[in-house]
Amino acid sequence: MANKQSLDTTLSFPVEKIKKDFPILQREVNGHPLVYFDNAATSQTPQQVIDVIADYYQNYNANIHRGVHTLSQIATDAYEQAREKIRAHFNANKSYEIIFTAGTTHAINLVANGYTSLLSKEDEVLVSALEHHSNIVPWQIMCEKTGATLKVIPMLENGELDMLAFDQLLSNKTKLVFVNHVSNALGTINPIEEIIKKAHQVGAKVLIDGAQAAPHIQADVQALDVDFYTVSAHKMCGPTGVGVLYGKEELLNLMPPYQGGGEMIAEVSFEKTTYAGLPHKFEAGTPNICGGIAFGAALDYMHSIGFDNIATYENELLVYATEKLSEIEGTRIFGTSTDKKTAVISFNFEGIHPYDAGTILDKLGIAVRTGHHCAQPIMDFYAIPGTIRASFAFYNTKAEIDLMINALKKAKMMLS
Ligand SMILES: *Cc1c(COP(=O)(O)O)cnc(C)c1O
Repeated sequence: MANKQSLDTTLSFPVEKIKKDFPILQREVNGHPLVYFDNAATSQTPQQVIDVIADYYQNYNANIHRGVHTLSQIATDAYEQAREKIRAHFNANKSYEIIFTAGTTHAINLVANGYTSLLSKEDEVLVSALEHHSNIVPWQIMCEKTGATLKVIPMLENGELDMLAFDQLLSNKTKLVFVNHVSNALGTINPIEEIIKKAHQVGAKVLIDGAQAAPHIQADVQALDVDFYTVSAHKMCGPTGVGVLYGKEELLNLMPPYQGGGEMIAEVSFEKTTYAGLPHKFEAGTPNICGGIAFGAALDYMHSIGFDNIATYENELLVYATEKLSEIEGTRIFGTSTDKKTAVISFNFEGIHPYDAGTILDKLGIAVRTGHHCAQPIMDFYAIPGTIRASFAFYNTKAEIDLMINALKKAKMMLS
């Protein structure tokens, strides 16, 4: 027992102190202290980031890259410093390879739109069966417009990708491969190093949807040699409505602009308009200035805790919750390998609709997600309407998991 405790990293991780940084975690829901286990949908925001948002609107709200006046210059500097923080975090080579977007969905649509003018009907593109709808639908639209063929890398019963099938699907017709780094519905960490390497061997480019990985794993885009990587700030302690597309300079240069407007031009006349260079070519209009600055602050906050510490602690939560949940009779967990997963558990109870269980949990102050998690192909694979998904963050605790387990036992008794 003593031996087991010394291995328990949750004892040294300062979670009680960290929790105090998050005002929302102090509130009650339906008369119970909030237990927030819907982090895969959106994360909560620490006071340090809320302060940066308030400071922007209280002290230097102004449009960027335009005015000569002082506030505009302060805002521009802060926005560009945030871009630099994001570049450093993902180890991109150049800060102009970081394009600010409204989030992952926008970033993927930007690339799908760009490739609509670069593909032809002989081309093939591969998408994985584990994708969020955001990483499926834009490519379907692209394929409709270009006549290119969309092929699916199948998944296995354990929630991992079928890598043998991937090898067989790859050919010199393959032009693009899109896979998420981590599945939002199951938590599976995909072998993206291998996928990128093999895709490059046939000359295909790879877009990795990092929305679900970024809160848990610090990706190094140069070490990965990934062509495009997308993230959303709101999944990693930042605000909604902002994210980035990382793209290799030469590939971003090949793509036409996604939207026309202010800020993305070099010169405009009715005869001919020339486009600005990177990153501005893809940043038409007034961006989410405050959001970008707050994204930088969110990264600072997460680094103050440390991504390695976060990963170790969250894995401890995952192992603990998986053990406790498995003890409840009739539990079925989807995506089973705890060593290739982030802290997400998708599960069902025999004979109980996920929505009914989720509703009872909510009455007890516990927020989980129920449904298809924007990944209907995965639900179809398991032939289920949806799952209950508990997704953990570094500010969650084992005590909260105990509360959820007790609530689930109660829900199961009420519903069966
Ligand atoms: C959340 C998520 C998205 C969509 O992100 P938005 O912020 O809604 O654009 C896409 N893919 C994955 C894997 C996600 O988890």
